[in-house]
Order: sequence, then structure tokens, then C-alpha cells
Amino acid sequence: MKAKLIEKKEIAEGTLYTKFSLEENIIFKAGQFFKLKLIDPSYTDERGNERFVGFVNSPSDNKVIETVVRKGPSAFKRSLSELIEGTEVEVGEVSGEMLSPEDQNTSWVIVAGGIGIVPYMSMFRVMKEKGLSLDTTLVYSNTKESWVIFMDELGEYAKDDNFKFIPTMTQDDSWEGEKRRIDEEFIKEKVSSLENSLFYISGTPRFVPDMVKAVKNLGVQQRNLKFEVFTGY
Ligand SMILES: Cc1cc2nc3c(=O)[nH]c(=O)nc-3n(C[C@H](O)[C@H](O)[C@H](O)COP(=O)(O)OP(=O)(O)OC[C@H]3O[C@@H](n4cnc5c(N)ncnc54)[C@H](O)[C@@H]3O)c2cc1C
Repeated sequence: MKAKLIEKKEIAEGTLYTKFSLEENIIFKAGQFFKLKLIDPSYTDERGNERFVGFVNSPSDNKVIETVVRKGPSAFKRSLSELIEGTEVEVGEVSGEMLSPEDQNTSWVIVAGGIGIVPYMSMFRVMKEKGLSLDTTLVYSNTKESWVIFMDELGEYAKDDNFKFIPTMTQDDSWEGEKRRIDEEFIKEKVSSLENSLFYISGTPRFVPDMVKAVKNLGVQQRNLKFEVFTGY
């Protein structure tokens, strides 16, 4: 289906937010992603003109798509950065199995690295719409604060006693909070109930395998673990 760019802005250093309007309603679930294809882009290279990107809006907002992507040197990213409002793009297949926890009594632990926060934003917005308050621990790792997306919104969610928000900035001298890289010890310290929690992990191909290994070493069972790798980084 065709979509039209209606908004584009840098929401953090090196990170682009885009909003597209749709000709018809789109059906997706919070946590899913889709294929974004540029039509006749300004630049081309061997990496091609389509990428998987996650929805950050709630599925109840089904006339628009909001996305957040890390800027980069590829032809796709340069073309996307230069798109002008009104430009048409193609929205391809929607997929993804990392959806919101079904059991509202679950303790939910999220370990997200940088852009890996994307799938949860749609889930959190649905929770807010429905007035749900799931026992949530969000461990969110970034290099520095200026690169962090959705910090204010996550801070709002953290006002709920059930939402434990643990940001860590691994290379930011001006950040006064947690600075450690996430590892087994970190997770053990921050998560109260390892055995009974449902773990979701997402981020780059460097981040996710290390985190999966760490939680498995801590005894988290495969059935309590979902993860998504943002390939391409
Ligand atoms: C399920 C899924 C969901 C995803 N969701 C998102 C999302 O919501 N947001 C998001 O930002 N990404 C997401 N991604 C990743 C996205 O699809 C791209 O793969 C990623 O953004 C990399 O884009 P790029 O190829 O344009 O490279 P860039 O972002 O431009 O660069 C990434 C790396 O590749 C290198 N590189 C770039 N071009 C070249 C080249 N020509 N030759 C050699 N090296 C090069 C760069 O130096 C850099 O290290 C998702 C991926 C998957 C699989």
C-alpha cells in the first residue's frame, strides 16, 4: 500500500522520526514491523531501497505509520533523510512475533539497546490507552543521553510504581546515573524475580546475542524469552 510522508524530524542525535499517512487503514499489532520501500530514491546502492522498520504508534492509530530510524551512510538512509513532505513510499508486508505479554499478571523484563526500544513504544502506548499497569522492568542501554529516544515518555511511564525504568549510558561523562554495560551481574542486581519473569530483548546484532547469553546463564528458560535482532547494523 502507498503512504505519504507528512512529518520528519530528528528526535535525538542521529535519529530520524518519520510519520506517514495512509490511503487505507493498516492492520498491525503492537511490536510488529513492516517493510518500508522508497520509490525512485535520490540515492541507490547495493543494499537496496527497502528496510524493515518497527511501528512506534499504537495500532488504534491505523491511518498513520510512525517510525524511528538511526541515520546512516547507506543510500537508503541518505534518501530517507532527504525525503520531502508529500513524497510517496511503499509499505510492504507486516510481520513480527514479539508482541505484548498476554498474561497481565506476568512480570515483564525488557532489555533494549538503543534503537531496540522501538517495538515497545507501540506496546506501551496500547497499555496506556487501555489503562493497563503491567509489572515492567525496562533496562535501556545507550551510548549517551543525546542519542536516547523517548526518554521523556519513558519517564512518564516510570511514574507508575509498576514500571521500573533503568537507563544506562555507557559512554557519557555528563550522565550521573547508571553507566555500566549490561551483563549478568547487572541483570541479577536489577531484576527481582528472574525465574518467573518474561524477558524481551531487542537491539543490534552485537547487543542481542550477548544479552540472550547473559539471561540464559542466569537460568531464564527459553519459553520465557523473546528477542528480536535489528539486522543491518
Ligand atoms: C525485524 C527488524 C526490525 C527493525 N526495525 C528497525 C527500526 O525500527 N529502526 C531502525 O533504525 N532499524 C530497524 N531495523 C534495521 C533496519 O532494517 C536496517 O537494517 C538498519 O537500519 C541498517 O540500515 P542500512 O542498511 O541502511 O545501514 P546504515 O544504517 O546506513 O548503516 C549501518 C551500518 O552499516 C554500514 N554500512 C552502511 N552502508 C554500507 C555500505 N554500502 N557498505 C558497507 N557498510 C555499510 C555502516 O557503516 C554502519 O556501520 C530493523 C531490522 C529488523 C530485521
